[in-house]
Amino acid sequence: MTVTDDRPATGAPSTAAEYVALDEQWSTHNYHPLPVVIAHAEGAWVTDVAGRRYLDFLSGYSALNFGHRHPELVAAAVEQLNRVTLTSRAFHHDQMGLFCQELAELTGTELVLPMNSGAEAVESAIKVARKWAYRVKGVPEDAARIVVAGSNFHGRTTTIVSFSTDSTARADFGPFTPGFTVVKYGDVHDLEAAIDEHTAAVLVEPIQGEAGVVVPPLGYLRAVRRICDDNNVLLIADEIQSGLARTGDLLALDHEGVRADLYTLGKALGGGIMPVSAVVGRRDVLGVLRPGEHGSTFGGNPLACAVGRAVVRLLATGEFQERSRELGAHLHSRLGELVGHGVAEVRGRGLWAGVEIAPGGPNGRVASEALAELGVLCKETHDTTLRVAPPLVITREELDRGVDAIAEVVGA
Ligand SMILES: *Cc1c(COP(=O)(O)O)cnc(C)c1O
Repeated sequence: MTVTDDRPATGAPSTAAEYVALDEQWSTHNYHPLPVVIAHAEGAWVTDVAGRRYLDFLSGYSALNFGHRHPELVAAAVEQLNRVTLTSRAFHHDQMGLFCQELAELTGTELVLPMNSGAEAVESAIKVARKWAYRVKGVPEDAARIVVAGSNFHGRTTTIVSFSTDSTARADFGPFTPGFTVVKYGDVHDLEAAIDEHTAAVLVEPIQGEAGVVVPPLGYLRAVRRICDDNNVLLIADEIQSGLARTGDLLALDHEGVRADLYTLGKALGGGIMPVSAVVGRRDVLGVLRPGEHGSTFGGNPLACAVGRAVVRLLATGEFQERSRELGAHLHSRLGELVGHGVAEVRGRGLWAGVEIAPGGPNGRVASEALAELGVLCKETHDTTLRVAPPLVITREELDRGVDAIAEVVGA
């Protein structure tokens, strides 16, 4: 069969530069993407509009833990597309109870509040913690406080940027929501000093992703748990990026044997197909919400629940956690060899790494562009850190190929 290109000579974009120009002209400039225009993807690989293939070393910031278009996830989505996609929460449907049960069983929790984006899950956890503080803990009206960590990333809503310490995320978006106290991440004493009888919750990332894959000192998360217990304060773990097998365990908190009262989940929960998020946790905490007090038109929709159920099935095998552990050990050992050779430091856990480029090397943006030239897609966070988070379906050989490219780019 002959394929003819019957697109008009002008108008319809065909080259990467034309697609980029179109985005530049018509879409809000709230991102600064690399000039790669992806048209197709499968597993750990993406293909651009010119047919060039790239190894995905970012995984949509961990939204693609199972790779692009995992066959079981696509099959679940297609099957559900052919049945029912949206009912609103005005009615029940036959996927939600099962999704909530299966996700609760997987995570060892008691109740599930399904939402869509990660930020919405965090917003929901904040509302639940505040209501719990007033109705259960006995905090006086409007006095509840939530303690958060410096350099946090929990999303982009007005309330969430209110307690960001990143000036780019905050500037010009005030006035901000009160009721948050920022403490130094990883510092037990600072946390202890910030807690009083009005504290509803401590909200923390077990590993800070956007901050550059920052792992807190060993024992910190256990200390946070103890401080919360001693003061009748809820521990909310934001596992939107760190959870669902990324670090080699189901949840990053599992590495320290710590349980949170509430977890926020997102990103990989939607299998890289659609936004699916949830707050999961204690029945007596999530149970404070009553009909009409909180909701979302699309939260817990049938398509989201069907995809989420397929994600839970993949995670229940333990296969992805194991891949992340084994390949992660290899990744960290290979990246570790670069320290002193263009790399200043490597942080992270499992198949997740923050690679600090040594002074004198390329900045993060230049390094990301150079990596794309070499066929590896990765993105800087801040000026000098490369965030490496390959899909967990990647092979050892592919991983080596990506690390070789990083070595070349940092001048090892
Ligand atoms: C990505 C992320 C969020 C926000 O998720 P969105 O789906 O982008 O709203 C919140 N917390 C953490 C830790 C994240 O990595």
